[in-house]
Amino acid sequence: MGGEVGRVELAAADGGRLLQRGEVVEVWHATYRCLMPDDLLAHAEKLDRSDPIAGFRDRFVFPDDGVVYFDGNSLGRLPVATRDRLRAVVDREWGADLVRGWSRWIELARQVGDVLATGVLDVDPGEVVLADSTSVNLYKLAAAALDARADRRAIVVEADNFPTDLYVLQGLAAARGLELRVVPVDLDRGFTVADLDGVLDDDVALLCASHVGYRSGARADMRAITARAHDAGALTLWDLSHAAGSVPTPLRASGADLAVGCTYKYLNAGPGAPAFLYVRSDLQASLRQPIWGWFGQADQFAMGPTYAPVDSIERFAVGTPSVLGAYAALEGARITAEAGMAAIAAKGAALTDYAITLTDAWLAGYGFSVATPRDADLRGAHVTLHHPQAWQITQAALAAGVVPDFRTPDRLRVGLAPLYTRFADVYEGFVRLRDIMRTGHHQNHPAERTRVT
Ligand SMILES: *Cc1c(COP(=O)(O)O)cnc(C)c1O
Repeated sequence: MGGEVGRVELAAADGGRLLQRGEVVEVWHATYRCLMPDDLLAHAEKLDRSDPIAGFRDRFVFPDDGVVYFDGNSLGRLPVATRDRLRAVVDREWGADLVRGWSRWIELARQVGDVLATGVLDVDPGEVVLADSTSVNLYKLAAAALDARADRRAIVVEADNFPTDLYVLQGLAAARGLELRVVPVDLDRGFTVADLDGVLDDDVALLCASHVGYRSGARADMRAITARAHDAGALTLWDLSHAAGSVPTPLRASGADLAVGCTYKYLNAGPGAPAFLYVRSDLQASLRQPIWGWFGQADQFAMGPTYAPVDSIERFAVGTPSVLGAYAALEGARITAEAGMAAIAAKGAALTDYAITLTDAWLAGYGFSVATPRDADLRGAHVTLHHPQAWQITQAALAAGVVPDFRTPDRLRVGLAPLYTRFADVYEGFVRLRDIMRTGHHQNHPAERTRVT
């Protein structure tokens, strides 16, 4: 039942008729309710009115450009507190304190780690630190895990993990002569514990997976997968880039060993802000990361001649952190912690549900289908839509002031960052997408892709 909601024509032997608002009909054993476009808008307005974290939208910078932003899963919006903090830091701390600022800055990476630990990731202070990029952290923790299981010769990774994760592990496997077992997964359903059947054995040192898949938004069962890996004696390394700040991360409940993630997506710390890493406290003393830098050194300013890693999460740091990026990550983590992950996750589920409803109602008739799992417990806060012309539709959307993004091979991602996205924004963005399909404006955009998608 594609086409436009509210004008569903019931073709029947008696010649068909227009349905009434709210009327429920049965067609081929399925029941349908006839919704009018304003029902869907009224629904959005009702959800916005009862949204307990609606007020957080005012904590972000919104230029007066009418843009509907569906890409907070790629680069989060700028928080007002971050803009003000960075201005103050540039003027007073960098501009005036100069090198004396280090007495404060030296604590920052750990301080942000603690806010992330307690307010976002639900683990203990001292288990998370801000450092480097997600790619580099993945390298450091994977190498540390491989060293800790040096008698084992295999790494397991899901095939649809983020490309940087695959590349980093390919590099480690090549350098160390290890076997990389790439587990095929369904691109839309994502990584499931059943995908591990026959894959794990006592040669596997490490399993690496994303909690929320970047392409489909599918959420992996961290508990079940970690349990299976642990049964085989392997360590687990989770990439939380699309999960941190969008869904609860059951690191503690699952007993996961290691994790990494971005701060510039749902944590709103800005382009290129430093990443975080997590190492379960009881593992820290036994793990050594491969880059022996002075920010991981015990008694760093003794400037001793030989590396001896500090007895804390900071042993996984390397060199001088980005102070501006760390302040931005601090503010982003604080806002997220203040809103609370339970409220954020509940809103993310409702926003994505609503986007799926609009897709079914308005876009299915134009060749769209929902790639993301329909069960909210099985997804993060973005919805991925299939369409053979997804690239051109993405370009037409940008021209119409809607910012989703494109992912290969034929998918449009709609990221719905819960802290600042209203249900009415979802409605407006989908109205524009529907209008593109109705007018065929996407046909005016070339099929060739640009460098950044
Ligand atoms: C965005 C993302 C990254 C990015 O890594 P960088 O080192 O920050 O470029 C890594 N992994 C996943 C799953 C991501 O979504």
